[in-house]
Amino acid sequence: TLNRMSINGGPAALQSRGVSTSADDLCELGRRHVTNGLGRLTEGIMAKGSGSYVEYEDGKRLLDFTSGIGVTSLGHCHPKVSQAAAEQCLTLVHAQCSIAFHKPYLQLVERLLPVMPHPSLDSFFFWNSGSEAVEAAIKLARVATGRQHIICMQGGYHGRTYGAMAVTKSKTIYSEGVFPVMPGVFSIPYPYWHQHGLPPSTPTSTLVSRSLYQLDLLLAQQSAPRDTAAIIVEPLLGEGGYVPAAPEFLQGLRDVCDKHGILLIVDEVQSGFARTGKFFMIEHSGVRPDIMVIAKGLANGFPLSGVVGRKEHTDKLKPGTMGGTYAGNAVSCAAAVAVADVIKGENILANVQDRSRELFDSLEALRSDPDVFPYILDVRGAGLMVAVEFSSPNGPGAQFDPVTKADSPKSLASRVVKACIDKGLLIMTTSAYEVVRFIPPLNISHQDLKKGAEIFGQAVRQV
Ligand code: PLP
Repeated sequence: TLNRMSINGGPAALQSRGVSTSADDLCELGRRHVTNGLGRLTEGIMAKGSGSYVEYEDGKRLLDFTSGIGVTSLGHCHPKVSQAAAEQCLTLVHAQCSIAFHKPYLQLVERLLPVMPHPSLDSFFFWNSGSEAVEAAIKLARVATGRQHIICMQGGYHGRTYGAMAVTKSKTIYSEGVFPVMPGVFSIPYPYWHQHGLPPSTPTSTLVSRSLYQLDLLLAQQSAPRDTAAIIVEPLLGEGGYVPAAPEFLQGLRDVCDKHGILLIVDEVQSGFARTGKFFMIEHSGVRPDIMVIAKGLANGFPLSGVVGRKEHTDKLKPGTMGGTYAGNAVSCAAAVAVADVIKGENILANVQDRSRELFDSLEALRSDPDVFPYILDVRGAGLMVAVEFSSPNGPGAQFDPVTKADSPKSLASRVVKACIDKGLLIMTTSAYEVVRFIPPLNISHQDLKKGAEIFGQAVRQV
């Protein structure tokens, strides 16, 4: 293989030099040997990150409106977070939590307790990835209620491990032959998701009541309330297209849960940690979760996720039900403590709210430009989790053209992404829906936000 890749001097020379070789050769190696075409959005190797910018090995510098899919929320290599992690690296890298607590774990609990959306959320368990934490939340709900069924949302995304995939119903991200993965999973429509068959004037309350009606039907039929452990919901649909849930929908779910003794799992993996201008998206509705899942922005790039529940529920877990060798790693926890301190100390929530207004204003102005108007169907989101949904040139609401496959909303979105990257803005679509999403760092400056919005506008006009 190395010969075929014609790396200068062949394998022997490569070995004598160690593995480092040119960026082009390494990319070629990636294309051949890294599964599933990862790294395909931008050609090249991302070499450095600093604040709102990333730099590629070839020197190309891009303004980053992806934040590694909402992870590096305080910008790349935030000095206080990197410093905290570096110090922890020199102190204690790993302590298996079943053997002993480590200090950053407990300090993180201390930081998180006061920012929980409800004081009843008082029992924490940390993991590495969002998917693992979703699995743990499902497990916790089943143990706490003694019931098996889980209700999820059409359009929802919760990860790619088996249990998380079972409750993921956004457009298929998986191949045939993998499903079904978990019995006892049912879904209801998330209001607004795929509503485009409906007249544009359909009020939100109609969509909400339609979903809640489906929930009632489901509970009356396939999944009797006495069998249902939990309803899992993203308060702002992420990979399904950045659709915020109407507060009355979330309240409706809460009411159904209260009526039937079902637990409400709120997945804040993407929407949590100040992303929407409050610490958690669910706070915008005032609805109380029974279990909350957090990850992504929690540690600004270090792998860390968490499940927060009520002590009365987590006390029912037998030792050994939850666990993982690397769960709650000390370096990640130390980084997360620094993240929490920065969010508080550097007035990040206020910055998100200010920059969010600017972003919405500029995208709405773009949408009302007569040249652009027919192509932008929707601008939506909350805080700095914002998306633009494109429409076919045949008019707002027109659907994918199965004959030409051209100029569908999906192809428009990916062409806009490509044009943005060419012009110096790193931006992406959601994995399961044809929207272009904006997830800039939460501490982005007015100037950088303006610059990114301008590049986006130029790219849209060009495409
Ligand atoms: N839940 C939500 C809402 C997500 O957006 C994601 C990832 O994008 C996950 C869960 C899965 O997290 P991870 O990719 O860390 O496993």
